[in-house]
Amino acid sequence: MSTADEALEKIKAQVEAETPEDITISSVTFEGPELVIYTPDAREIANRDGIVRNLAQTLRKRINVRPTPDALVPQAEAEARIQETIPEDAGVQNLDFDSTTGEVFIEAEKPGRVIGRHGETLDQIAASVGWTPEVVRTPPMESSTVSNVRNFLKQERDDRRDILERVGRQINRPMTADDDWVRLTTLGCCREVGRASFILSTPESRILVDCGDKPGAKGEVPYLQVPEALAAGPNSIDAVVLTHAHLDHSALIPILFKYGYDGPIYTTAPTRDLMGLLQLDYLDVAAKEGRAPPYESQQVRDALKHTIPLDFGNVTDIAPDIKLTMHNAGHILGSAVCHFHIGEGRYNVAFSGDIHYKDTRLLDGAVNDFPRVETLILESTYGGKNDYQTDQADSERVLKRVINEAQEEEGHILIPAFAVGRSQELMLVLEEAMRKDEIPTMPVYLDGMIREATAIHTAYPEYLRESLRNRILYDDENPFLAEQFQQVDGGEEMRQDIADGDPAIILTTSGMVTGGPVMSWLRLLGSDPDNTMVFVGYQAEGTLGRQIQRGQDEISLGDSSGPRAERMSLNMAVETVDGFSGHADRQGLETFVETMHPRPEKVLCVHGDESSTNQLSSALYQNFNMRTFNPKNLETFRFV
Ligand SMILES: [Zn+2]
Repeated sequence: MSTADEALEKIKAQVEAETPEDITISSVTFEGPELVIYTPDAREIANRDGIVRNLAQTLRKRINVRPTPDALVPQAEAEARIQETIPEDAGVQNLDFDSTTGEVFIEAEKPGRVIGRHGETLDQIAASVGWTPEVVRTPPMESSTVSNVRNFLKQERDDRRDILERVGRQINRPMTADDDWVRLTTLGCCREVGRASFILSTPESRILVDCGDKPGAKGEVPYLQVPEALAAGPNSIDAVVLTHAHLDHSALIPILFKYGYDGPIYTTAPTRDLMGLLQLDYLDVAAKEGRAPPYESQQVRDALKHTIPLDFGNVTDIAPDIKLTMHNAGHILGSAVCHFHIGEGRYNVAFSGDIHYKDTRLLDGAVNDFPRVETLILESTYGGKNDYQTDQADSERVLKRVINEAQEEEGHILIPAFAVGRSQELMLVLEEAMRKDEIPTMPVYLDGMIREATAIHTAYPEYLRESLRNRILYDDENPFLAEQFQQVDGGEEMRQDIADGDPAIILTTSGMVTGGPVMSWLRLLGSDPDNTMVFVGYQAEGTLGRQIQRGQDEISLGDSSGPRAERMSLNMAVETVDGFSGHADRQGLETFVETMHPRPEKVLCVHGDESSTNQLSSALYQNFNMRTFNPKNLETFRFV
């Protein structure tokens, strides 16, 4: 018997000791961070108050109780009973039985109607069929990503169970080290924006936080091959933790699977879906530009298969001595501030990922309240001493003015935006301004992945701000479905027609003008001075967006050194509207630290140009009397 089996036998005995005499425990197993208990008495356990809570407290594990097969009503019969129990207006789309876990996934348009008041309907279902009902929302806008991911994970159920069991054993392995330290190594995004990546390590475990690319600098990847990272082999790390889906944090995660990594990725469910969408697009863009992609779509699927989704606020064991909790970061859908609790109260580190401190139309502001935290790794995108942005209300006024002026010129308005986050924020602003007649109602064309990214937002309304969530869920006034929003799905021909037609707003990727459909729009609209380009997001050093924003009027489309180099003179008006960024500005970053509870002892300023990280680091030191750092890539900090 292996040590893991012995450990499970011990836990089973403990579970039996902690549960009432009349309840039978058939077996226990680990699945990822959860302890799964199989029992013919699953209903009894669910009905009696406190059993699961007591077990979770005594064993200090997340507990999942599942029925043994003999407690399950046969599928056909169960299906009939479930259909009978759920009210018709719930809009049930699909029932999917997973016989190995005893779960039945109920996909419905109105999950609330499936759940019932205080979970009544669900309880009824469970009592009547023995299966454990799990409710899944049908996205209000059809999203091929969400349905592809769901179908793929369903197909790979057996593999996934093997992965989860293996991960569970890894997490619960006995600790061997008698030494005690905590270190952090920076693998990228220090004194630069892009290729975010860090290694958090103890004598027991190693965690990789983020693994992104650097926009505008093809080929500059995180330092993965150093001894602190993967030099000891792809499985020398225990887990990957992803703060959010943007490619400068996620693009290179699939490459780990190409190297042979087969461990877990922890992130939120919306980040998992967005990550898949953006990584596949990343491969697509590379192929279109004639570059060799760093990995294949198979590795994107591998990454999805190995992802263990976490909800905000759930404390989760991810290694023998490390617990992870994710909190809302306010930056994009599913973005998280990642808090690591190391050892039994030994040390606490929080990674901000990218944050937005204030509430926006789309999301609540970033969480900065933790049980404990000694060190904060803080993004510094707008950390420079002059990086104060106007507040969003002012920005919206400027945007409306720019749109009204451009419309008077009968021109088109071209807005490059990240597909995820800024686009949805802008759609909300434009929808309201048109509804209130503050700007003329005209078509808003969505090009690139913006519509699909928007559909993913509507599949996860619980991650959005409450007022918006309610509009999407209950009021039949989903702002994203307003009729002026039109998808560009007819390729170059449709773009030409739009460019030749009446004034319109075009919202398109990529946000930093580094490729994608915005390049076609530049060709079509760039030479006409009646048209206007409006920047609403951060333009990194080295990107075409930054060059245009700075006033360069001779630009090069495509790879400037390659055979596809194409120069053009840019005559369209160029405007920048601050304040729509998904990032906290300098004031927001300072306030995040100032109001953080508890105040950290050390702050590492990363993910910003050198001057920004430097200036933010000195300001935090001077204002709040804390130890601050402006690290370079490949520095290692010892915290304990
Ligand atoms: Zn980001």
